[in-house]
Amino acid sequence: MTRPYNFSAGPGAMPPEVLTQAASEMLDWHGSGMSVMEMSHRSKEFISIYEQAQADLRELLAIPQNFHILFMQGGGLAENAIVPLNLSRGETVDFVVTGSWSQKSQKEARKYCHVNIAANSEADGHTLLPKPADWQLSTDARYVHICSNETIHGVEFHTLPDLKTLGCQAPLVIDFSSHVASRPVDWSRVGAAFGGAQKNIGPAGLTLVVVRDDLLGHALSGCPSAFDYRTVADHQSMYNTPPTYAIYMAGLTFKWLKLQGGVAAMEARNIEKSKLLYEAIDQSSLYVNRVAQDCRSRMNVPFFLRDESRNDAFLAGARAHGLLQLKGHKSVGGMRASLYNAMPLQGVQALVAYMQEFERSAS
Ligand SMILES: *Cc1c(COP(=O)(O)O)cnc(C)c1O
Repeated sequence: MTRPYNFSAGPGAMPPEVLTQAASEMLDWHGSGMSVMEMSHRSKEFISIYEQAQADLRELLAIPQNFHILFMQGGGLAENAIVPLNLSRGETVDFVVTGSWSQKSQKEARKYCHVNIAANSEADGHTLLPKPADWQLSTDARYVHICSNETIHGVEFHTLPDLKTLGCQAPLVIDFSSHVASRPVDWSRVGAAFGGAQKNIGPAGLTLVVVRDDLLGHALSGCPSAFDYRTVADHQSMYNTPPTYAIYMAGLTFKWLKLQGGVAAMEARNIEKSKLLYEAIDQSSLYVNRVAQDCRSRMNVPFFLRDESRNDAFLAGARAHGLLQLKGHKSVGGMRASLYNAMPLQGVQALVAYMQEFERSAS
């Protein structure tokens, strides 16, 4: 069965192999007589699924032993509260605002702590990343928050900032919701990372948190127990019922990623895919992307038609060519192509061919 190419920003496309395997195991997982959805989270069957998913993720992202992997719920937006509840101690926190998601994060954090905006690219329309050397970091911040890939504005940190070289001892917190597993992570620069699974890992409902040992155990007294990283870690993410089916699906995706050669191989493919699309945009006279070259996202490519009156025709034609969910986010308009791990190079080639055909038909 050939399926259309799905460019959704999230929930995003999943590898067909993963969906096919899940379908084949739907009624009876490995001879257990049960669907994964019907298993106790404390059963030996589910514990094996959970432990394998944890181990595969640790291996894929090379997560050091002094970091906990927490499988939580609530998505990236809940983490905007959960992170300050756990790490801020009600004191000062630094934010670098590079787009809609970091903007949302700093706004939510104000409920729990004092927020310092160390840098903000709003005046530039979030089309570039403020240089770390120019960030106005606090001397006493409990952590520094960045969104390492801005899903809406299409801006990505291709390397994570090294806060120590900036004279800052605070841990770096990254929202990596929309590019987790698209490339390796330098954990020596990170204190905590969080992300919803539904962009690049699995279905909605699972939220991934990777947090360094020494950052546990400092939650504010008002922090809900189910959101206290210490409690979640002490109970192996089973303080309450975890999102079992989403964990299973993420686990199948981790296995698929390993078969693809791991995240370094994915990074090479993601560079190739995004390069193809950005070059097509830059070489055309109809399409435009305004993000600075050195921080263009490899996952989320927003682009605009210079003649916006043709947006609807572009989208209708795309659907007819089997190219789905290309409409841009409502806050910025235009188009957006999300090229998550599950998007093959052929999908991007098909998109570029359609874009060129559409441009020719217009001129
Ligand atoms: C999608 C997204 C979120 C929000 O995730 P929810 O699961 O909807 O709460 C947060 N941050 C980034 C970078 C995202 O892409």
